[in-house]
Amino acid sequence: MPGVFQTSVDEMLNDARDAAQLGIGGVLLFGIPETKDATGSQAWNDNAPVQQAVRAIKSELPDLVVITDVCLCEYTDHGHCGIMHDGDVDNDQTLEALAKEAVSHARAGADIVAPSDMMDGRVRAIRQALDENGFSNTPILSYAAKFAGPFYGPFRDAAESTPKFGDRRSYQMDSGNSDEAVREVLLDIEEGADMVMVKPAGPFLDVIRRVKDETGYPLAAYQVSGEYAMIQAAAERGWIDGDRVMMDSLLGIRRAGADVIITYFARQAAKQLSSQR
Ligand SMILES: [Zn+2]
Repeated sequence: MPGVFQTSVDEMLNDARDAAQLGIGGVLLFGIPETKDATGSQAWNDNAPVQQAVRAIKSELPDLVVITDVCLCEYTDHGHCGIMHDGDVDNDQTLEALAKEAVSHARAGADIVAPSDMMDGRVRAIRQALDENGFSNTPILSYAAKFAGPFYGPFRDAAESTPKFGDRRSYQMDSGNSDEAVREVLLDIEEGADMVMVKPAGPFLDVIRRVKDETGYPLAAYQVSGEYAMIQAAAERGWIDGDRVMMDSLLGIRRAGADVIITYFARQAAKQLSSQR
């Protein structure tokens, strides 16, 4: 992905300083562990990269909101979001692992944990584990409506998390069905989500609007790697005015009802916004 890199904790801290200075409200952290295994056990290692990064940011930039991605796909050697059993995700075992991961992130100081796996019952399991471990004030941002599809390609290369076999259609949603999206969101809210996410953003503006109207909940929209890469690539070729298309793409997401936008354009957009003031 152009302009997107894996970084060490030190390099990440430079990026975080930069983000804070530009007035960006928060960062979302993904980790690449040193070793991967079948259960993704590095996910709940208190000294894994994400946990280290959280501690580093919170000690230097306490006002920058730190959100952590809670999932297993970056940590499993097979690249699926859960622990597999006979070719299928073992939901219960996965929930236990995700709960441990979320608690470990909260212990490191994460302001918000964001489960992205789409397993059944994960919000409830994580809420319960956080509460039992003294983190009842740590909110959950649930990837409530996450559609399966081709828009994640560039990220999966960057995060080394492309499934080695099969795909994620059994646990992500069918793009054609916005009723299902609303149902999934309501379920997550019932399980204790404090904030819900729609992902991808641009191709699903109608879902953003529906979810916002029907729940009234704080809503985050994730402008994913494919959306970013298309704009970048066309801009590089001189086919579009990259900055203006970027701003229009973000404005559309905002207009649809997103309270928070997660985007690879964050710094570029923040720079442009501050120059317009
Ligand atoms: Zn995942």
